[in-house]
Amino acid sequence: MPGTRLQMYPSRAMSLPTMRSCLEEVQSGAPLTRTMAVGLIQCSDQELPYLLSAARAVRERFCPPGIVTYSRKVFIPLTNLCRDYCRYCTFRRDPNEAGAHTMTPEEVLRVARAGERVGCREALFSLGDKPEMIFPEMRAHLRQLGYKSTLEYLEAMCELVLRETKLLPHANPGLLSAGWMRRLRRTNPSMGLMLETTSTVLLRPGGAHDRAPDKVPALRLQTIEEAGKQRIPFTTGLLIGLGETPEDRVDTLLVLRELHRRYGHIQEVIIQNFRSKPTIPMRHWPEPTRGDLLRTVAVARLLLEKINVQAPPNLSAPDYEELLSAGINDWGGISPLTPDYINPEAPWPHLEELQQRTKAAGFELKQRLPVYPEYVEAVTATPGLLADKVRSAADSQGYARNSQ
Ligand code: SF4
Repeated sequence: MPGTRLQMYPSRAMSLPTMRSCLEEVQSGAPLTRTMAVGLIQCSDQELPYLLSAARAVRERFCPPGIVTYSRKVFIPLTNLCRDYCRYCTFRRDPNEAGAHTMTPEEVLRVARAGERVGCREALFSLGDKPEMIFPEMRAHLRQLGYKSTLEYLEAMCELVLRETKLLPHANPGLLSAGWMRRLRRTNPSMGLMLETTSTVLLRPGGAHDRAPDKVPALRLQTIEEAGKQRIPFTTGLLIGLGETPEDRVDTLLVLRELHRRYGHIQEVIIQNFRSKPTIPMRHWPEPTRGDLLRTVAVARLLLEKINVQAPPNLSAPDYEELLSAGINDWGGISPLTPDYINPEAPWPHLEELQQRTKAAGFELKQRLPVYPEYVEAVTATPGLLADKVRSAADSQGYARNSQ
């Protein structure tokens, strides 16, 4: 493991007056440089309120005022077999491990229909990356189902859900080639891949991504860039607290901003905090502090401007409203039905409670689709089943039609 890098941050690089004048400039439209961002992301507790206030001001400038969104979803863990061994993952299994499972088409449809009945509009397909490449059991299982690869099976299940229900698929299958993106975009109005970090330190022996060939940052950036070339609305994000430095976090945000400036396709950036679990190899690794998370969210908001910034409330319970004070404008996917299979120990808040607490913080909670309102027009421009389904799911502003 890369030692105790989280405890080795250099002291903050800015005095309070410098920081305040930098924030005033940014609020009045000046670009935030890397040096400034690196200083801000390490600000002291005394300075933090100024940073948060600037982030809120930038949210007001770039996002629909007074609105915080969420996507009502079901989680479809198509397979938890994975060829990677990320040291923080509780989701993945080897084929012979307890809990290893690949869903049948009947199971997929059952979950999607149950979600449809309670107003869900997103079918979030989460799955391990290319398990058939190392597990003959998965190859045999796919053959039995009638498919050659996990991606072929995913494609068929996305088609099934799109055709048979009102849910819109949002697939997170890991690294994708240009060809696979072209295929999956026919049934997915948006797709996702967490960049996590641009730091390659995590790939070193004992690091969080030591045995995870699909977590090489350059490869993940290729997938995100290819999505841009194909104009696919794309969800990505950072996973903070894995051993990366504050500079790494800023660099990760900057590379995403650059890709968005080039292609205009990054619909949201998730800032997810590492949570320790007793069964993972990283169980003794320290979680990022609440201050770390708020600073990262706030700097993300300042750097990313119009891009939607999301942080999952279940990973910040019980005081998740604090994330609103750092500039988020989205709570991500919330399921009234299925657990968070990635963080099973952290249940999503009930939607009524989320609505009340969002309202108490001064915002209206609006349900969105897996594709954000500003991308709905582009997605519906190509005639076909996907366009028809998105059109009938969206209201006149691009939010979910049964918005609540
Ligand atoms: S985080 Fe994703 S890629 Fe890594 S082991 Fe878990 S399922 Fe596989």
